[in-house]
Amino acid sequence: MIKTCYHTHSHYCDGKGKPKAYVESALEKGFSALGFSSHSPWPTSDCGIKEKQVPKYVKEIQGLKEQYAGQLDIYLGLEIEYFPGFSSAADEYYDTLPLEYRIGSLHSLWDEREEKWYAVDWTLEQYKHILNDMCGGMMENFARLYYGHIRDMIRVGRIDILGHMDLIKKHNKGEVWFSEDASWYRDEVMDTLDCLKDTGIILEVNTGGLCRGYTDTVYPSPWILKEACDRGIPTQLNGDAHSPENLDFAYDEGQKVIAEAGYKDVRVLLDGVWSDRPI
Ligand SMILES: [Zn+2]
Ligand SMILES: [Zn+2]
Repeated sequence: MIKTCYHTHSHYCDGKGKPKAYVESALEKGFSALGFSSHSPWPTSDCGIKEKQVPKYVKEIQGLKEQYAGQLDIYLGLEIEYFPGFSSAADEYYDTLPLEYRIGSLHSLWDEREEKWYAVDWTLEQYKHILNDMCGGMMENFARLYYGHIRDMIRVGRIDILGHMDLIKKHNKGEVWFSEDASWYRDEVMDTLDCLKDTGIILEVNTGGLCRGYTDTVYPSPWILKEACDRGIPTQLNGDAHSPENLDFAYDEGQKVIAEAGYKDVRVLLDGVWSDRPI
């Protein structure tokens, strides 16, 4: 399968290493395309790129694009945070940037009582706060809240790729909080896939959870990807790398999951055009 990755985090946000180190790693590992997707500016934490750094980020990636032309296809993107009710990829700000693609992701949920954001994927304490203090201790409510916002993000649109769709499972290794077989969980996932169907948005297969030891499979779980394939939803493989050496972490595993889900091809950005390439 052609090697590409459009989901990477350099030192501009919460990743390690300069963009150039990612380019060198991609060349060494035989990649055909590499996309940079810093977290968009976050008002709530240091995970996102600082808004005043964005022009430098844009210039640096565009410089690398020119410098490595003919060797590696390099793209400028962002992983744009969906803050339900506050901010999305449809914000005019993003239209002012020369982005070549956009990943849409949801990491945080709003606690109305405390008027504070809590991350789904950060500390276990924050996860437990969402579950116990915001969702009455019921995982079913947590899943409804989470996937409801994912569907809202899809409806708002202006994204090319849906980032780590089932991030809610990050702290659920060994199914300690919920079973993915629960009917209420499956219903939420199916509704989300039905919402995604026919939008053209790519459902990425993301090996980041495996890389950092949180999950024992990719995002999304293989059964979800199979349902996505049945609905004709396009996919692609991304490492969500936070350091250059992890660009292709668990790519063999990711490729296997994609093939076993029934996919015959992946959707990739090459020479500035999205196209389907055989796996
Ligand atoms: Zn993310
Ligand atoms: Zn990411």
